[in-house]
Amino acid sequence: MISPNTSIQNIPRILPAYQKRLLKLGVKTLKDLFYHLPHRHNDFSKITPIGELKLNQTTTVQGQIISIKNTRTWKKRMFITEAFVEDRSGAIKAVWFNQPYLANTLKEGLTVSLSGKVSFDKNLYLSNPAYEKISPPPLGGAGGDFFLRHTGRLVPVYPETAGLTSRYLRYLISLFLPALAQLTDWLPLEVKKSQRLIDLPAALRQIHFPSSTRAAEQAKRRLAFEELFLLQTFVLTQRVKWQQKRAIKISFNERLIKDFVAKLPFKLTQAQRQAAWEILQDLAKPRPMNRLLEGDVGSGKTVVAAIAALEAARAGWQVALMAPTEILARQHFQTLNQLLSGHNLKVCFLSSSETKQNAKEAINKKSLLAKIKSGQINIVVGTHALIQQQVSFKNLALAIVDEQHRFGVMQRAALQKNITLLKDGLPEQVPHLLSMTATPIPRTLALTIYGDLELSLLNEMPKGRPAIITKIVPPTKRTAAYDFIRQEIKAGRQAFVICPRIELPEENNQDEIKAVKEEYRRLSQEVFPDLKLTMLHGKLKPVEKAKVMADFSAGRTDILVSTSVVEVGIDIPNATVMMIEGAERFGLAQLHQFRGRVGRGPHQSYCLLFTDSSSQTTQSRLKALVTCRNGFELAEKDLALRGPGQFFGTSQSGLPDLPMASLIDMILIKQARTEAAKILQQDPELKKYPLLKDKLKKFQTTIHLE
Ligand code: ADP
Ligand code: MG
Repeated sequence: MISPNTSIQNIPRILPAYQKRLLKLGVKTLKDLFYHLPHRHNDFSKITPIGELKLNQTTTVQGQIISIKNTRTWKKRMFITEAFVEDRSGAIKAVWFNQPYLANTLKEGLTVSLSGKVSFDKNLYLSNPAYEKISPPPLGGAGGDFFLRHTGRLVPVYPETAGLTSRYLRYLISLFLPALAQLTDWLPLEVKKSQRLIDLPAALRQIHFPSSTRAAEQAKRRLAFEELFLLQTFVLTQRVKWQQKRAIKISFNERLIKDFVAKLPFKLTQAQRQAAWEILQDLAKPRPMNRLLEGDVGSGKTVVAAIAALEAARAGWQVALMAPTEILARQHFQTLNQLLSGHNLKVCFLSSSETKQNAKEAINKKSLLAKIKSGQINIVVGTHALIQQQVSFKNLALAIVDEQHRFGVMQRAALQKNITLLKDGLPEQVPHLLSMTATPIPRTLALTIYGDLELSLLNEMPKGRPAIITKIVPPTKRTAAYDFIRQEIKAGRQAFVICPRIELPEENNQDEIKAVKEEYRRLSQEVFPDLKLTMLHGKLKPVEKAKVMADFSAGRTDILVSTSVVEVGIDIPNATVMMIEGAERFGLAQLHQFRGRVGRGPHQSYCLLFTDSSSQTTQSRLKALVTCRNGFELAEKDLALRGPGQFFGTSQSGLPDLPMASLIDMILIKQARTEAAKILQQDPELKKYPLLKDKLKKFQTTIHLE
């Protein structure tokens, strides 16, 4: 017997070719098919007498075919199928393109149902309407068990793939609707009651075959709610687990911090003070901190992290700071060495390719690891190598993770676990965890995927920075833009050139590297032969990258041509031009990140967005960047425009698939959170909710936690 768990490969009614295509959409079982949710519905529910049709109306007509024939336009080599359909009130023409087989399916004399938009060309006609035979009886008569799939109702439109249309999906789902009744509803009854949610089988039936707009809305709400509820249950469980652990209390050393702040070359912003204060208070508790420091590019997160590191290190504990790229890790290593000099702390650098201690001294990895283990090193700055290798600390009390979304949003829990493994000699205690991100995460998203973190916000920029001027550069202005860059460089400044993104799945993809090499050659030989150019991409060896960055940072080179690897964190205050090729290929949030690489010093800075695309959407997206300087606003726009997966960049998101895209529904998120909290409060182990518990377990595996 067919059940929701039946693999589609074991359903003979689905032909092998279609099974393959379904697999492409991630549909493995019948249940997956039910959960292949429409992204919208076309409202074809109104049936209008043909004589009453109006221009531009979207509706359904039902009547008899009085003629149908194919013609062919020789110029465009296109088939046109024309039919005339008649009911008691009148007749109308319907036209289809390139579907000549229709003339064999929809024969004269049949009664059909057609849904679509009413167009006009001399007379009213229907252009490419959805169709189906309702051969006698017509007009809403007692049609036995026949029901409309593609017309005459709210019709779902699904994510499709080549050879797999919404039409086919509707047909397929309709065949198996009876199996829906076998689905068990894992949402706790009291949650359903208090949120007035409909049952799972009803919701799935209504999402595919809604009986009314209201029913479709209810189905959507139920299905969106369950996604969010599961996510919140997960996040809150993580939070509880973390809070049950113990951490080292590091009491606030007021003199030390005041002194440090007083000696900084700049005055901290109010937001920086506030964030530092929140962090220091967390550190003074016996429970591990789990805080996200979120601030727009250039808002000054590093110095806040330095304050936390100083406090912990001077109290005699070890600190680890991890960054997603070697370039950034090196930069942090230098910054911390500078900021914390005079405090008699040993800071070291650790990546898979190199190890260093206190600014310049090289040290071999073995002795460095020994020194970390024996506690002679106070602060370790590095890449992933920090948690991947056999690094063991004597008394790690604080772990800082920069640009943490880069590590994969949901991998954070795994990260926490790894970090707790680093400690040695501190039984039962875990380090405080400070995460930092420069991708401004909209509040809605923050509540959802970062729902287990406390949040500190740097919503204020250091004073005295001229606003960056952003311009969209069409192909005709390219030469002028190059001249402008040359002027800036003659005035002593530097420039970045970012090559367009090439969308291929692999990291460091070869085409992208080829493109950047070619662009580098062209710019250095043909456009700027008189200037010093340098090139950066993912395939360079770490030492080569370091040299490129060091040269650029020291002003020995003028223009850095790069792939998107410079995106995060790089701080070169003398650079004033950020030029981005193929700007339309990047998301708004990412473009904003690039832009944040300039305007970090006292000089007026510019962001030049090159694009060959004059499409309306490209232009309006890029214009949003021109007018909007606030990363949070841009992030909201980006999220709304592209959805959460793309928002973070597909490969890095680590986000579970949330087909209802409910991540922007603030009210629903809050409701889901409240309900999840209630359930967990009365039953933290979910003993009374085995179905939910099981679901949660499966959910965890989908987000690659362990
Ligand atoms: P991000 O938040 O993007 O990581 P950084 O920490 O790299 O920003 O800081 C950007 C630049 O601003 C650095 O050069 C840093 O020294 C400087 N900076 C940080 N805080 C202030 C401040 N309060 N006033 C002036 N400059 C500051
Ligand atoms: Mg930073």
